[in-house]
Amino acid sequence: MDGHDGRVRLEGSGRDVHARPADVIVAELDSHATSGLGADEARRRLATHGPNALTPRRKQSTLARLLLQFHQPLIYLLLAAGAVTFALGERVDAGVIFGVVLVNAIVGFVQESKAVSAIEALARSMRVEATVLRDGEPRRISAPEIVPGDIVLLQSGDKVPADLRLARARDLQIDESALTGESVPASKDTRALAPETLLADRANMAYASTLVTHGTAKGVVVATGDHTEVGKISELISAVEKLETPLSRNIARISRLLLGALLLLGAVTVFMGTFLRGQALAETFMAAVALCVAAIPEGLPAAVTIILAIGVSRMARRRAIIRKLPAVETLGSTTVICSDKTGTLTENQMTVRRILAGGEMYEVSGAGYAPEGRITRRGDTVGPGEANRALDEALRCGLLCNDARVVEKAGRWSVDGDPTEGALLVAAHKLGLRRDQLAEASPRIDVLPFESEQQYMATMHDAGPGEPRVVYLKGAVERTLSRCVNALGPDGAAIDLDEAQVLRDASDLSRTGLRVLALARKTLPAETRDLEHAHVEEGLLFLGVQGMIDPPRPEAIRAVADCKRAGIQVKMITGDHAMTASAIAREIGLEGETAEDGTLRAVTGGDITRLDSAGLSDVAERVAVFARVTPEQKLRLVQALQQKSHVVAMTGDGVNDAPALRQSNIGVAMGLSGTDAAKEAADMVLTDDNFASIRAAVEEGRGVFDNLTKFIAWTLPTNMGEALVILLAIALGTQLPILPVQILWINMTTAVLLGMMLAFEPLEPETMSRPPRDPSAPILSFPLFMRMGLVSLLMLASAYGLFTWMQWQGYPLAASTTAAVNVFVVIEVFYLFNCRSLAHSAFHVGFFSNRPLLFGVLGMLALQLVFTYAPFMNRWFHSAPLGWREWLLIFASGVLVWGVVGFEKWVRRRTGRVVGHRAMDI
Ligand code: ATP
Repeated sequence: MDGHDGRVRLEGSGRDVHARPADVIVAELDSHATSGLGADEARRRLATHGPNALTPRRKQSTLARLLLQFHQPLIYLLLAAGAVTFALGERVDAGVIFGVVLVNAIVGFVQESKAVSAIEALARSMRVEATVLRDGEPRRISAPEIVPGDIVLLQSGDKVPADLRLARARDLQIDESALTGESVPASKDTRALAPETLLADRANMAYASTLVTHGTAKGVVVATGDHTEVGKISELISAVEKLETPLSRNIARISRLLLGALLLLGAVTVFMGTFLRGQALAETFMAAVALCVAAIPEGLPAAVTIILAIGVSRMARRRAIIRKLPAVETLGSTTVICSDKTGTLTENQMTVRRILAGGEMYEVSGAGYAPEGRITRRGDTVGPGEANRALDEALRCGLLCNDARVVEKAGRWSVDGDPTEGALLVAAHKLGLRRDQLAEASPRIDVLPFESEQQYMATMHDAGPGEPRVVYLKGAVERTLSRCVNALGPDGAAIDLDEAQVLRDASDLSRTGLRVLALARKTLPAETRDLEHAHVEEGLLFLGVQGMIDPPRPEAIRAVADCKRAGIQVKMITGDHAMTASAIAREIGLEGETAEDGTLRAVTGGDITRLDSAGLSDVAERVAVFARVTPEQKLRLVQALQQKSHVVAMTGDGVNDAPALRQSNIGVAMGLSGTDAAKEAADMVLTDDNFASIRAAVEEGRGVFDNLTKFIAWTLPTNMGEALVILLAIALGTQLPILPVQILWINMTTAVLLGMMLAFEPLEPETMSRPPRDPSAPILSFPLFMRMGLVSLLMLASAYGLFTWMQWQGYPLAASTTAAVNVFVVIEVFYLFNCRSLAHSAFHVGFFSNRPLLFGVLGMLALQLVFTYAPFMNRWFHSAPLGWREWLLIFASGVLVWGVVGFEKWVRRRTGRVVGHRAMDI
């Protein structure tokens, strides 16, 4: 019913859609339960109602976010120092301090905004799709295109795309915790309820952003976008993730501790200077301020955020979308990757190769989904009319008990739906069977969709008026055989079922790496309307098996080899048969315990059930292949590995994989084939479902950690050096060689122009040839600490030495401090090249491989010329021009540090004790 503005409106109160029958609501919305909306009407409604998306509500305004930049203990300290400096009459100094605080806030704000928008863009790229009926056909559309009146089809794993009044529900359960906080999934049906029923009890409604955990349903959209229940609760919608990880929290904590310690040290300085030495309060106060600003690494928190954000976007470029920021850090420490087989390690390009039916083995030729190829028996082609009845029925079953479609796009055949089912369609086609004809002769009445736990799918068909219903079932061999009582013989008569023989034949197929599916049939009374699991528990007629290949992905083979070199174990966890899994695992190059016959030992879900947690931990560590594993057992496996202190990355795609994904250190969901439920639970989503992308993400994770370490190793010696210079001056009671405003200048400009550029450092060639980082190990190893100490001492000696020498030579104070400042900056420039690799020289990583860094260095040197020679800078920062002789000495100190650190690295490489990585054999 259209309102005057063209909007669809529910008559009466739109609020009680739960209190009236579903068909009434469908009619009110001018829709149709079986054909849905027309495409034109949907377009019109989209124009009037707007997209089905929540208007993002920023938690903080821009101004608030800018002001928050000042809300840091260090900034408070600087502001206080600025205020006191101002009170002491040093207006220019106070102005510089305030200026620096402002610039710092602006730089922090800009960088943080960039990081936030990069992560927001990633969040947006996670498209949610939904199936709706349009013009009578089911269509996959992106969720924002949904309009009121659309008929939405739901199945387990889906995220409900809008508020729906359910019109049909089958075993439907929905996890509404996103809306109601209730963690137990709610059972749903379609009956109308009393108008006063509370939201949480409205069993005939499905609300946007909740997750279908079980069953299937059909519902009509009654509200979209901001009009949905979740849209009304604005606090729930935080599109922006906090830019926080365990590491950044740790660094913030350490900064606070450092600040406390410095305040104390500053107070002691003031006390000693003023009362014991009798110096002027103003002078000792400035010394204390200098000490504080010197020792605090101002750029560190911002650098951590930027390095993490750059890591996130690098991973995205390599097809791994990070959903939870801490994953960036954890990835580098991954010790075990548990991966699904189908589609992740293999191509998921299924082609039927062998068919066993009526006691005969048939070969199928042709590759991929192109319907070209033949079925042969002992070399002779089997034509449409000549097939034995069992073969014909086995192919028919595969064709009818099937939801996939094989389509040709631009000359390439591909499958729309489950590739396993696509293969069955193509195989039937090779015998001349056509789905449209068969489906017309025996239309489908009901279906039990495939679920991983059941490992089968069944459909019920109408075989004509008064005829019994025909049920086709296909599924895992053991699951299917146990339901069969007899088998179909070659001539169409039922014969005895030799279960042991079939299992042997199926094993032979599995051993060659084929995925084997069994097919069976049953009849039910003509009046049966709904197919239930109980109907197919027993009494089935076995039709045969089809064996299909699913070749390993070549890039997965390479990635597995890389992981091995990187000290990362790879485990295959699959719902497939043990022998198929172990054959494919061998081809892919997995390593683990072997069985007596030399094949990789595969542990099955049944074995897992029998093991206690200690036993499972041992097995999980040794074995590489886990077959016929249910999602609950995946959870146990993750826990078992974690008990052995492993950092586990686990893949998953189904709705029931969510607990295992949450438990693992890195939950990895499949972007293409995964359900919305799995994606919500995951830390990372692969846009191409490919194992190689996990490996790439791990590599980038290691790179992120390396770059963080490099930044810290670069930045801290400056702070230590500056603090040592100030402490020495205080202890000796001499002039300060660098003034507080100059220290601020050094710290701020070098952090942005030099240190930050380490975030762009490319991956080192050795990144994947060393063992994973121990997550409990400190970032700074002892040797690295020693190196940093050495550099700070060299900074101290050079800066203090040059300053004192120039004072002796009778240079003005301003020139001497300017020289000391330039010593720090120039040493930082040279040391930056040392820090480009923790173990190797900058030439090893490619001198020009980080262009932003080279530009940063040029910019920094230009800035120092301005600092030294521009009159306004001389006024603000108490600097003074220098001659070429001083510059020579300044650059000599830079070269000295570069040479000493280069020599130290060389010695360590020679002795095999490399800094930054645990026991690395190069
Ligand atoms: P992975 O966990 O590596 O992705 P998988 O895809 O083989 O493995 P499942 O999808 O859980 O795991 O399948 C388990 C078993 O169920 C398969 O080995 C097969 O026998 C059976 N099966 C798979 N797909 C279907 C289907 N569409 N219809 C009926 N049975 C199926």
